[in-house]
Amino acid sequence: MKKEILKIQNLTKKYTSGLIRTKETIAVENASFKLYSGEILSLVGESGSGKTTIANLILRFIQPTEGEIFYEGKEIHDIPTKDYYKNVQGIFQDPYSSFNYFYRIDHMLNQVFKYSLKGITNKRKALESALSIVGLNTDDILGRFPHQISGGQLQRVLIARALLFKPKLIIADEPTSMIDSSSRADILNLFKELKEGTTNTEGISIIFISHDIGQAQYISERVLIMKEGSIVEQGLTEEVFLNPDHPYTKNLLACCPSIYRKWELD
Ligand code: ADP
Ligand code: MG
Repeated sequence: MKKEILKIQNLTKKYTSGLIRTKETIAVENASFKLYSGEILSLVGESGSGKTTIANLILRFIQPTEGEIFYEGKEIHDIPTKDYYKNVQGIFQDPYSSFNYFYRIDHMLNQVFKYSLKGITNKRKALESALSIVGLNTDDILGRFPHQISGGQLQRVLIARALLFKPKLIIADEPTSMIDSSSRADILNLFKELKEGTTNTEGISIIFISHDIGQAQYISERVLIMKEGSIVEQGLTEEVFLNPDHPYTKNLLACCPSIYRKWELD
């Protein structure tokens, strides 16, 4: 039986903004779902539907207003910070903003050993292994400055950085939306490989966030559709896309006629 990695229970996040006339935004409302070991779950929804808020809550960047998040059965806020981030890592939309352009790639990766993974003895070997999993050549990449490599390669460096922790769970928030379309399929396939454990890591569970239904269909076993902070539908990708229940999911699919074609032809 598949192991439950993550359990999200009645999660709500409200923001209040403004000083005199305060305005309340309910970014996420009463969301509940589970993630099992060795699966990719996609969170799909239009801009502003609350996807990043869910990612930020799981990554403990922000606190929930209500509800709980359990990682392997433990409330995430009860897990010591270092232990949590050894297991749970994030990959974000904009790889460019994660680099200091004055420093070479090796400096950036070595920071992980300096601050987070102090115990590692063979750093060079760990770097080589992580970079080879993401398809980058150590000798070639480490001496370069960020502006000397492509957006797709920068995103791979960040995935390699996450892999140094040997995480069990990766939260990937729109990881392909700022890289060239030519590299997107490669990144998606890399996530699939990480999940399968076909590379020399154990399989990693992944929450893949996207506004692109095509990518969600390609990459995930299960999908969760969000609208205005609420989960309107969730289930096996094939079932949800073949037989959508909610009018919003039907609308999303109607915007992607190629998906209908594919599912009908099967
Ligand atoms: P998505 O990632 O699906 O585009 P977000 O989770 O970023 O959606 O945003 C969900 C809603 O919460 C939006 O209406 C957004 O404007 C609002 N929101 C996000 N972050 C904040 C914040 N720090 N303060 C106030 N409102 C926010
Ligand atoms: Mg977002």
